[in-house]
Amino acid sequence: MLAPPMAARVHPTSVVAESAEIGDGTQIWLFCQVRENARIGKGCIFGKGIYVDAGVTIGDNVKVQNNASIYTGVTIEDGVFVGPHVCFTNDKVPRAVNPDMTRKGIDDWKITETLVKAGASIGANATIVCGVTIGRWAMVASGAVVTKDVPDHALVMGNPARICGWVCSCGKRVQIDDREGRGKCECGRVLVKERSPDGRGDVVRIA
Ligand SMILES: [Zn+2]
Repeated sequence: MLAPPMAARVHPTSVVAESAEIGDGTQIWLFCQVRENARIGKGCIFGKGIYVDAGVTIGDNVKVQNNASIYTGVTIEDGVFVGPHVCFTNDKVPRAVNPDMTRKGIDDWKITETLVKAGASIGANATIVCGVTIGRWAMVASGAVVTKDVPDHALVMGNPARICGWVCSCGKRVQIDDREGRGKCECGRVLVKERSPDGRGDVVRIA
């Protein structure tokens, strides 16, 4: 028989809104804030000083490191790694004031959404500019500034972030032979690269 699920644990210095949902077995450590109607899945670990904005959805078994900021409009699927000080944005045209210098209110701007798909990793201090999708098992290098979609299994680096390789679901880099369109990881998995159906890039998947 399975043991009953462990309830979520929230350190007393963290503030979780009453309307937020936190799944069984999730641990939230010191000085975090989880805002209204945020939904966090099961088995997640949140380090110290993390901000989860109103309405954010986070899947199961997600790890978020110290001081990451996850703003409204961001959706994070299962098994994603968010490194320390990662910053998501949600406003394409940030301004404090209108052209007449009156202060912008809550209805004076539009949220732009961002999706991080299952298994992806985002390195320390990366910035994810809103409106992008980060693909399954993709890896964003430390300090990268992501300004466009990242395909599944892609490794992206730099500012603006560019594809500079491919990674296995185990996290290791895989050399893909362009002629054969495939490459084998040290772990034994084989990655296959094909032209995307829309012809605009490559898609990589585990064979
Ligand atoms: Zn592998």
